[in-house]
Amino acid sequence: IQRSRKALLKNCYATVSQTSPREKDTLNALVYRVNSATDTVENGPLKDVRVAVKDNICTAGIPTTCSSRILETFKPPYDATVVKLLREAGAPIVGKANCDEFGMGSLNLWSIHGPALNPSQYDKSPGSEVELRSAGGSSGGSAAAVAAGLCDAALGTDTGGSVRLPASYCGVVGLKPSYGVLSRWGVVSYADSLDCVGILGKSVGHVQRVFQTLNKFDDKDPTAVHPDARKQAGFLCQERVNAWPGDATLSNLRVGVPQEYFPTELSTAILQPYRNVLRSLAKRGAQIIPVSLPSTHYALSAYYVIASAEASSNLARYDGIEFGLRVDPDNMNHVNQAGDIYAQTRTFGFGEEVQRRILLGTYALTADAFDNYFLQAQRVRRLVRADFDNVFSARNVLSSTSSAPECGVDILLHPSAIRTAPPLVHDAERDVYKLKGSKDDLDAYLQDVLTVPASLAGLPAMSVPAGVGEDKWPVGVSIVGQWGCDEAVLKVGEEIE
Ligand code: GLN
Repeated sequence: IQRSRKALLKNCYATVSQTSPREKDTLNALVYRVNSATDTVENGPLKDVRVAVKDNICTAGIPTTCSSRILETFKPPYDATVVKLLREAGAPIVGKANCDEFGMGSLNLWSIHGPALNPSQYDKSPGSEVELRSAGGSSGGSAAAVAAGLCDAALGTDTGGSVRLPASYCGVVGLKPSYGVLSRWGVVSYADSLDCVGILGKSVGHVQRVFQTLNKFDDKDPTAVHPDARKQAGFLCQERVNAWPGDATLSNLRVGVPQEYFPTELSTAILQPYRNVLRSLAKRGAQIIPVSLPSTHYALSAYYVIASAEASSNLARYDGIEFGLRVDPDNMNHVNQAGDIYAQTRTFGFGEEVQRRILLGTYALTADAFDNYFLQAQRVRRLVRADFDNVFSARNVLSSTSSAPECGVDILLHPSAIRTAPPLVHDAERDVYKLKGSKDDLDAYLQDVLTVPASLAGLPAMSVPAGVGEDKWPVGVSIVGQWGCDEAVLKVGEEIE
């Protein structure tokens, strides 16, 4: 433990270095390719939808590394329920998609496979100096694979924005469904109370088809929401959807513009595409209504406390004893042997960001800090939920206290991210890619500021491409609905697309 991490790397394991994506001449989107579609039903309804699966979702006999050294050799003996459903529907699985380690990150930089690159401008300038930009994270490989045409749709996971953010940066569609609607069985946990399986696709239609295939109650997932609640929510939302049939007739659609979603950090390049979407909806009769969600300002801090606390508990299972990587100390003796294995395995096996989250989360859960951090964050989470319930026209069927306001809105519309895809630079000293011009790692945390509120409240949210910013890189707008109104969110997405 006294030895530096570098020495450990040398002694214990062959180093898997971050290969430069230029050297590999690839986007580094898929980290494992599947050649034959074994175990996939022929002629199923999704036979024409090639799907990539994020590398933190279990695939039988196929590596599932979570982009972590600690699971580098892990081949699950089973498929996650969502993968099983895809196979049963005949979807060809093309491979495993790069991501941040255990889903922790916003730029896909924290990965043993190296960064996933944004293809939006990548292919378009052959021979010329191509600007390296992040595909976003943590489901960066899934978004880049869809954008580059390596697949038609991809599974990601979204704990605080990891599907919507890369979708926005790469110019594809990304849906985080309502919490508890898609099965998490076989999905490697990051923060259970927030984790959702999400879907990326080249069109809303692709996302919708995959969503409808996966939207099944699974009794193996203890957090799956009961079919009665789904039915109830579906009914309430269907009433609203029927009121705005689409095309030229959006006159009954009430679109909320949350005033707090335009922070000072929001780049002005984002605003024009966002306004264009609002204008086109208004032209077709939709009512645009300013609304206020006052607890938004506290959401990001609360998110990072809750997510880290849950991560510190979840990741305790990687102890070098039960499963995963094991690093034996050099001089094994009887004194404190298990502790040494545990410490060395985790020191070597977890990357820098994951270690940071474990420490942060462990601290937030200690007796001294619990009241000031963890409890406060839970209170903020309740306020964020209440804010949403106060503006939506549909009641939240999961809350006994929620009653819909008289003149509520059907959906909220806001920019998905505060900027277009961030440029990357190579830090030669540490041989890692970093955010260009960034002074500290907090800049990466800030990327999630607009996506975490819907995660804390468990609401369906989808990023849809809305053109490009001044720098010609993609911009996304996000549609957020009441819990269980996923179909309504998809429907509005179709109108915007
Ligand atoms: N960037 C956020 C985090 O690191 C969100 C990640 C995610 O949604 N998986 O926690």
